[in-house]
Amino acid sequence: MTPTPAVHPIDPQFAAGARIKREDYERLYAESVAQPEAFWGRVAERLEWYRKPTRIKDVSYRLDDFHIRWYEDGELNASVNCLDRHLAGRGDKTALIFEPDDPAKPAQRISYRELHARVCRLANALRALGVRKGDRVTIYLPMIPEAIAAMLACARIGAVHSVVFGGFAPQSIADRIADCGSKLVITADEGLRGGKKVPLKANVDAALKLPGTNSVETVLVVRHTGAAVDMQMPRDRWYDAVIDGQSEDCVPERMNAEDPLFILYTSGSTGKPKGVLHTTGGYLVYASYTHEAVFDLREDDVYWCTADVGWVTGHSYIVYGPLANGATAVVFEGVPNYPSVSRFWEVIDKHRVTIFYTAPTAIRALMRDGDEPVKKTSRASLRLLGTVGEPINPEAWRWYYEVVGDARCPIVDTWWQTETGGILISPLPGATDLKPGSATQPFFGVRPALVDANGKLLEGEAEGNLVLLDSWPGQMRTVYGDHQRFIDTYFRTYPGMYFTGDGCRRDADGDYWITGRVDDVINVSGHRIGTAEVESALVSHPKVAEAAVVGFPHDLKGQGIYAYVTLVAGEAPSEELRKELVAHVRREIGPIAAPDHLQWAPGLPKTRSGKIMRRILRKIAENAPDQLGDTSTLADPSVVESLVKERRVP
Ligand code: ATP
Ligand code: MG
Repeated sequence: MTPTPAVHPIDPQFAAGARIKREDYERLYAESVAQPEAFWGRVAERLEWYRKPTRIKDVSYRLDDFHIRWYEDGELNASVNCLDRHLAGRGDKTALIFEPDDPAKPAQRISYRELHARVCRLANALRALGVRKGDRVTIYLPMIPEAIAAMLACARIGAVHSVVFGGFAPQSIADRIADCGSKLVITADEGLRGGKKVPLKANVDAALKLPGTNSVETVLVVRHTGAAVDMQMPRDRWYDAVIDGQSEDCVPERMNAEDPLFILYTSGSTGKPKGVLHTTGGYLVYASYTHEAVFDLREDDVYWCTADVGWVTGHSYIVYGPLANGATAVVFEGVPNYPSVSRFWEVIDKHRVTIFYTAPTAIRALMRDGDEPVKKTSRASLRLLGTVGEPINPEAWRWYYEVVGDARCPIVDTWWQTETGGILISPLPGATDLKPGSATQPFFGVRPALVDANGKLLEGEAEGNLVLLDSWPGQMRTVYGDHQRFIDTYFRTYPGMYFTGDGCRRDADGDYWITGRVDDVINVSGHRIGTAEVESALVSHPKVAEAAVVGFPHDLKGQGIYAYVTLVAGEAPSEELRKELVAHVRREIGPIAAPDHLQWAPGLPKTRSGKIMRRILRKIAENAPDQLGDTSTLADPSVVESLVKERRVP
């Protein structure tokens, strides 16, 4: 691969047709931070309100007078904004393109009119089953159109949805049901992922036998694979039976802007998942506006975000953002490597996808198999690429840019969190110079800053803890049922600021580089080393597919560096390669960052959203495998056992 410059200037051709150009960004950003009320008041007009908000922003991060309110006198309904509003002009436009796990099965195109009808029928059925405004509904479904209909049906009647990723086991489902006291669960007979069946209904049955789940009165079951399941009457009801005969019109609930829209549990990379609560008005304004601006959305785009609706990316950038914007969104049931590692690219060609948004973990995994599975597809429809979830190593960025995007498509590296509701730091493709590995610039109204351990603001080029000095409409409002935990987690560390938990570097151009979680910064002989940097150096070696780096107690240095390395397909571990990799990091970053221990890892422990769980790797490196903590969000627990067994004794 040819070496790429560290800066990719804005593509003039892209910029020419872009919604937001550099001058616009500068002008609007300045306005958005100087006069947030005027700015966000204007942006809110993109939605349809029953009652337009006049009080735009009322926020105080002070611990003795803490509150976050946006658009507090406004009234709206999220499902109306995602559906009814489009019926006149876009009724026949495709809202969702459903691509099933099995490519031999036909894809489905669902128009806005059809989706509206489906949502209304389900919303009426939920009301008939006694679900009322404010009740919680747990959704445990595969990536099928019913999952999106279920979310919007809840929104229509003011019920608060809690989507639980279909890969979770009974205990995790039960924990999430118990935490929010759901009245109803919507599931399916089975899910299908990569040709494998997932016993969703059986998992729900097992979950509902566990303590704390008595609040559930009804379980709706979507017939998806047609497998026989155990129906426990009168609790369990078939989805198609309850919507049968329901009207295709459903009077929406008038919601206050600050009424809850959903609860979503974080992915659990750092500890026990938190029930993040988002409200209606601010969240929807923010999700729809960021979706339009960051992805430079046009009316005829075919937009595909590969996340699952079980994660916030699916909420904001498959469901609420795109549908509020009247976009056409692909809903993909499958996985990147089934039936082959070309699947993503084949789906792009099949549906002529123009905007593609995925995670670094998927890019790194597909990179392992080389360029050929990508190059044999066309991808000519693509015009923009995006990533989210973890820092993207420059090596993976370049591969994404050159091989997947044929060096034609800008990449938006979007930094945000479940807590933030939408993208906070990202390039705008027509306005920002790109840098592989950097999320670059703040979105409108977002005021990032770096502080040292004592909370002192750092100026100019600096590295420290990433905080946000002011609120934005999509900010979470509380941890469900534990407001104190919300305040303690995010606002107590640095008074007056929202603490993100992420470490970050700001370069001389003012661009932001996320270095990983603050807990993951390693202090080697007084030098702060970000895990992301060492991992990127390792991954830049041609034989390395993926790497995870953690600190461990070291007698002389305070902390030493422990690296776990997964090799590309076909490469075998050897003592020689181990030395070569350590020398490679030494060359790339400097002797201070050279790993003290390097363990071969056939696989890395990841959350079910694909993020490396460094806290577990830290415990293995510290030789404390009995203190792994909450492992319920691990995708594959067997990975941990093998790493514990193969641990290198320091
Ligand atoms: P938990 O909070 O339960 O530990 P989590 O932080 O993994 O889980 P999410 O809200 O899904 O849960 O992820 C947000 C985090 O993901 C960010 O705080 C950051 O660490 C990381 N992240 C997301 N996008 C990016 C990005 N573009 N670049 C770097 N890091 C990112
Ligand atoms: Mg987090």
